Amino acid sequence: MFCVYDLHSHSTASDGTLSPRALVQRAAEAGVEVLALTDHDTTAGIDEASEAAQSCGLVLIPGVEVSVSWNRQTVHLVGLNLDPHDSRLDAGLQKLRDFREWRAEEIGRRLDKAGISGAYEGALALAEGCLVSRTHFARFLVQSGIVEDERKVFKRFLVSGKPGHVPGEWASLEEAVGWIHAAGGQAVIAHPARYRMTRSKLRQLLKQFVALQGDGLEVVSGSHSRDDYVNMAKHARDFDLLASAGSDFHCPENPWIELGRLPRLPEGCKPVWQSWNLSAQTDLRSQLG
Ligand code: AMP
Ligand code: MN
Ligand code: MN
Ligand code: MN
Repeated sequence: MFCVYDLHSHSTASDGTLSPRALVQRAAEAGVEVLALTDHDTTAGIDEASEAAQSCGLVLIPGVEVSVSWNRQTVHLVGLNLDPHDSRLDAGLQKLRDFREWRAEEIGRRLDKAGISGAYEGALALAEGCLVSRTHFARFLVQSGIVEDERKVFKRFLVSGKPGHVPGEWASLEEAVGWIHAAGGQAVIAHPARYRMTRSKLRQLLKQFVALQGDGLEVVSGSHSRDDYVNMAKHARDFDLLASAGSDFHCPENPWIELGRLPRLPEGCKPVWQSWNLSAQTDLRSQLG
């Protein structure tokens, strides 16, 4: 019934630059039929997105992207089709947001020592009262003319070993899967090819994820190559994981990652949406004509 799915996107509720409403409108214009809003560590944008989706004739899947620490590295889990107001999910995400607040101040202090003043205040202003991400620091440094582009800010200041890097613990894999399941959602490992793990390390992650009843793998991602689609489809099949597809759209300024341009899942993948009952939303669509 539906063909065009995009199950990974960001709004101003985390580090995207479009409001939830503007994001949904852009997705609908790009031909997306089913969109998941998956902001980092918050579901604060979902209500606005759901409301906008009704007037655009698009199905909005409530989601979240949870920051996880696994094996001394950061891994992201996308939670899909969940209750955005579940109290157990929110209590878990609140811990991550508290850590983010402290981390943002600490990044500011460290950048200050490195000779860049006002970065915390700058990032906070760009976050406009929503959670602060490293992306906001990157944008601030670019807008202040200190660094040419966001990628370079990460490389020079924000990644491990660089002056503004703050190590810390996010959720455990077990906690994150537990919170997503508590909210009735499906847990999906986001952009698996982005972690630069060896094949055996990735399979170790997948094995643990499956043991924790994890549900799926993001086979098609805006940051994956064609080879990645094929490899990740094989891993999904080997571990009997469902397959997801999401652009990871953050902003219109990045021409490489746009809504509604994803290829179909490779043959043999079981789509994560296969068990979803989208008929309630479909009824609404037909009522709207
Ligand atoms: P945080 O969750 O606050 O640590 O920020 C992570 C976010 O930063 C990711 O979701 C990306 O949107 C962005 N990001 C991470 N690495 C890079 C990079 N090398 N260049 C540009 N953006 C990045
Ligand atoms: Mn992001
Ligand atoms: Mn991510
Ligand atoms: Mn993302």
